[in-house]
Amino acid sequence: MTFDPPSIAPRIDVLGVPVTRLSFEQLLLRLGKALQENGESGSRSDYYTYVNAHCATLAAREAPYRASVSQADVVYADGIGVVWAARLLGGPCPERINVGPSELGRVVDLCAQRGASVFLLGGAPGIADEVARRLVAQRPGLRVAGVHHGYFAPEEEAAVVEKINGSGAALLIVGLGPPKQELWVSQHLAALQVRATWCMGGLLDQVAGAVAYPPDWVRRNHVQWLYRLVVEPRRLWRRYLLGIPEFIGRVVHQRLRPERQT
Ligand code: UDP
Repeated sequence: MTFDPPSIAPRIDVLGVPVTRLSFEQLLLRLGKALQENGESGSRSDYYTYVNAHCATLAAREAPYRASVSQADVVYADGIGVVWAARLLGGPCPERINVGPSELGRVVDLCAQRGASVFLLGGAPGIADEVARRLVAQRPGLRVAGVHHGYFAPEEEAAVVEKINGSGAALLIVGLGPPKQELWVSQHLAALQVRATWCMGGLLDQVAGAVAYPPDWVRRNHVQWLYRLVVEPRRLWRRYLLGIPEFIGRVVHQRLRPERQT
């Protein structure tokens, strides 16, 4: 699909990941266009994902994940660390895009306005159902075409893709967490008959109320990582306490020796 400015914003290489320089409003514009136009000519699904310090470090280490993220049409900067790194390595990045419950609300409002249905994939059994129930309760105009949990075996993958395609959904929201979600999407992108696919990590857990969502002041002050560390220390200590220094070290290394990157 071709796309007019501002979506052709240049990208900045952060640890091998091409970070797209765009704002949330520009991303919504792109989604609106994809919902309207993709698929009409039997074309393709737009693919959006995000990168934060944890993802970028993972991408620097793992080539298959790096390749699957790089395949996305939009890789937005989900953490302030990536915004700063992008500035240091290439130029300004308009903003940090952190898709929380209110941003998800904007996304599904857009779907409701366009008559585009949504499929939710990810989380423990019951999570996507609860998210669908909550979203539809707030927006009677929204159609959730289907849901599926994120703990399926490799031999069930074809059936999951069939369920998504059979649902007629226009937007597929994938919450399998990195790197699984990007690896899964790039493996199945060609077979998916949706107009857009958007990776949203652990957001479904937060919208379902299974995991606490940080208050606004935490997001505003860019200490969401610290909040999440306090809420889920056993799962996340390694990611943040070891990952953040590694991210900084790798960014400084890229800045000093760009040709040696990854
Ligand atoms: N998850 C899943 N299937 C898996 C592994 C993880 O559905 O095989 C889900 C998990 O239940 C959680 C999310 O993926 O909802 C984890 O996302 P994470 O918090 O790691 O992503 P982030 O939002 O930090 O990028």
